[in-house]
Amino acid sequence: MSNRVVEGRMVTPERLAEIVEGDSVMDAEPIEDADRECPDCGGDVISVGYMPSVMEFVTAYKCQECSWNETDRE
Ligand SMILES: [Zn+2]
Repeated sequence: MSNRVVEGRMVTPERLAEIVEGDSVMDAEPIEDADRECPDCGGDVISVGYMPSVMEFVTAYKCQECSWNETDRE
């Protein structure tokens, strides 16, 4: 299982990707530990790779404790 608790809720990789993207995604890879701390609260950061569209692959980073997130998009 790669589901994780994020902001107190269990999320699937697809759901985590949708939270960061703010929209539905086509596909998402298993959630991984990002080995970094949240710049806002110092919480654990997890990452998920996903495809918002056929032509694009994005890696998103999300804090498990607060709403902080970022992607590797230019
Ligand atoms: Zn945080």
